[in-house]
Amino acid sequence: MTVRAGREFLSIPGPTVIPDAVLAAMHRPAVDIYSGPLVVLTDSLLADLSKIFRTQGRSYIYIANGHGAWEAALTNVLSRGDTVLVLESGRFALGWGDAASMLGCEVEILPGDFRRAVRPEAVKTRLKADAKGEIKAILVTQIDTASGVVNDIEAIGQAIRAAGHDALLLVDAVASLACMPFEMDAWGVDVAMSGSQKGLMTPPGLGFVAAGARAREAHKTANLRSPYWDWTKRDGEVHYQKYAGTPPEHLLFALRAALDMLFEEGLDNVFIRHRLLAEATRRAVGAWAEGQAIAFNISEADERADTVTAVITRNGESAQPLVDYCREKCGVVLGRALGASEGKGFRIAHMGHINAPMILGTLSVVEMALAALSIPHGKGGLTAAIEYLAKSVPA
Ligand SMILES: *Cc1c(COP(=O)(O)O)cnc(C)c1O
Repeated sequence: MTVRAGREFLSIPGPTVIPDAVLAAMHRPAVDIYSGPLVVLTDSLLADLSKIFRTQGRSYIYIANGHGAWEAALTNVLSRGDTVLVLESGRFALGWGDAASMLGCEVEILPGDFRRAVRPEAVKTRLKADAKGEIKAILVTQIDTASGVVNDIEAIGQAIRAAGHDALLLVDAVASLACMPFEMDAWGVDVAMSGSQKGLMTPPGLGFVAAGARAREAHKTANLRSPYWDWTKRDGEVHYQKYAGTPPEHLLFALRAALDMLFEEGLDNVFIRHRLLAEATRRAVGAWAEGQAIAFNISEADERADTVTAVITRNGESAQPLVDYCREKCGVVLGRALGASEGKGFRIAHMGHINAPMILGTLSVVEMALAALSIPHGKGGLTAAIEYLAKSVPA
């Protein structure tokens, strides 16, 4: 017996739900790659990406996923043998560090905790000990999608300056851009990167990088530069060079539609919507956790991300039956637990094109699964979520 016919609810932290308007924008013939409207489209997208990163610096669009944008960020500012400090708080900064290592950088990990955010004080202490200034760049994620943590990038930027260190700050904003505030220039971020398929509500396939003034200076002498990723090659007036070849036309049409939707709603409203739906999710999980079988992965309440909530089982039991129940019986696809809690938890995404019925529907199904599988849980999770939203979204 199942109740899963109808639209499947994709509740994984990327790719996220693609709005109908974004899908529709792609349903058109290809255009001449030298046509005027395509040039105008590119100019508008690059300007709007810088607006979303909140930088006066230039943005770049790559035909790539987030892993590609990682490589773009690294190769444009670093040289073989440079030391890179990775701030651990989950899985993704470590993955970025692995890429740096393969490219020939010396990678040092500032050890973190899969259940906590990066501690800015620890960053300051490590940098102060680097009297010779060997660390050239610092890699950190704003939201780590595996652990469900949000890092305080502003405080990390301040810690770097307080240590009097001039390492470049490189930030992964794949799971946070256009979902929560990001202030590239004001926070002292030198390079920021993201991808199309999370908060930006566009199909996977575009990687974005924004470069600040100090990054551009480092770029002049970086020897990891390579033809496809190179900023200088993409900086000229020739439109074809902005993509190092044929533009990903249909993804650009899609991105235009998605950015139009975000601007129409207003970024501040988008951030508030994410915060409200994330908090509703946390209210539900908080109530369920009283049954002692499941818990938030992130132990500190103020370090939990507004785009994904990671839940773990307390006795290390597999969460696969719950994930399977939600998908097979009800048509809700939850994220699996990654990293330290692999298999022993699940993740609820609340990122991108989401609204109250999607999140409340997802939470209802999780609560239904907890009951159907007789997993001990506190009652009233869904009610707590509804009551929170009713109070926070007045008539
Ligand atoms: C999804 C994600 C990535 C990787 O993006 P891909 O497009 O899968 O390569 C990197 N960092 C974070 C924080 C992510 O959430």
